[in-house]
Amino acid sequence: PLPVAAADRPLVRIVIVGHVDHGKSTLIGRLLHETGGIPQQKLDQLKAISARRGMPFEWSFLLDSLQAERDQGITIDTSQIRFRTASRDIVLIDAPGHAEFLRNMITGAAQADAALLLIDAAEGVRDQTRRHGYLLHLLGVKQVAVVVNKMDRVDFAEPAFRAIEAEITAYLADLGVRASAVIPISAREGDGVSERGARTPWYAGPTVLEALDGFDPARAPGDLSLRLPVQAVYKFDDRRIVAGRIETGSLKVGEEIVFQPSGKTAVVKTIESWPVPPAGQERTALRAGAAAAITLDREIFVERGEIISTPASRPHAARRLRVRLFWLADEPLETGTPVIVRLATSEARAHVGTVYQVVDPGHLSTSQENRIGRNQVGEVELVLSRPVAVDPQGVNPRTGRLALEVGGRIAGGGLVISVLD
Ligand code: GDP
Repeated sequence: PLPVAAADRPLVRIVIVGHVDHGKSTLIGRLLHETGGIPQQKLDQLKAISARRGMPFEWSFLLDSLQAERDQGITIDTSQIRFRTASRDIVLIDAPGHAEFLRNMITGAAQADAALLLIDAAEGVRDQTRRHGYLLHLLGVKQVAVVVNKMDRVDFAEPAFRAIEAEITAYLADLGVRASAVIPISAREGDGVSERGARTPWYAGPTVLEALDGFDPARAPGDLSLRLPVQAVYKFDDRRIVAGRIETGSLKVGEEIVFQPSGKTAVVKTIESWPVPPAGQERTALRAGAAAAITLDREIFVERGEIISTPASRPHAARRLRVRLFWLADEPLETGTPVIVRLATSEARAHVGTVYQVVDPGHLSTSQENRIGRNQVGEVELVLSRPVAVDPQGVNPRTGRLALEVGGRIAGGGLVISVLD
């Protein structure tokens, strides 16, 4: 479910990406500490443990210990790390360095409004940096701030910073992404995270916290048009109950709804809730984020995987799609490759028709090859075995992003560019 912002504090969901070891965990530990998310006592405890073991304290231990608490079910909010900036609630989606990170991002489980792209000042822009930058672009994350970390390793020298700044902004510009800031910091030593770095007097831009504060919050999911993927259909008494979670928009009793791809329509008769409310207090409306169980004014046969919308804003029922995707599997994707397409709660067999274009995200070189290799990006035609409900790019992220599976594993994913038929 999409977290819902408190009215007074807009919520921004962010991801922190970048090459392994460039300092993502360290930056997160710092951010949590400097925004008051970690009690001093906890920090002292972790420092004492490190000292006892004769090893230097690492900020990433904070994350590890939070993870351990989560695994033991101690922390109530299990999936997310949160902290506050001057005017925003920041939710950090997904832990960095997570092996399944790309897969999670692709399946749309992680839907970020904004991102920090981290680069080690001593190592500079690496292929993985570019790939992550590309993936942000591919998934439609438009707000990006670049953080040049470990400035202590280059003696806080401006020329080293400027060279990286020039290289990464040129790369992002080629993708059509404008970095909102490029920030020199030392996450380990604390420069530039919440306080202006005294050792970078030549830098006049924002701190990391200020950059986060400048990100636009998500459009409230409730303000988008109705998208309710059907999770299950139960037969109960003589009624049929359709259940699912409202991804976006809202649902009202008496409203006409459409099921896509079947195209069937009905009117919402009741919205069931449990425990059954006293007579006269039935629910008449639900908003994004809520689990819904509804009955309809007529007997129609609908299935799991269909998307409920309103007639005015229905998604396409599509069988052929043009898709821009990121490929992760060892075996290349080429004409005829069979895949399973997952889109919201729908699932369909498909195969690749035409491969239009292949891009190497490391160097942004395009080729007319007809196979997409591991870690490459391409545009392909997907031919589905049956229609699924789809919103092409931008209309509704939940039904415009898809994942491809091969042999039961997520092998790639991306955005629906257009509906071919
Ligand atoms: P991640 O893989 O991106 O999460 O990277 P980590 O946060 O685990 O950091 C990798 C290593 O870089 C650790 O040994 C950190 O102590 C070190 N590191 C992180 N930030 C800095 C920094 O600002 N300066 C220096 N010198 N080392 C850092």
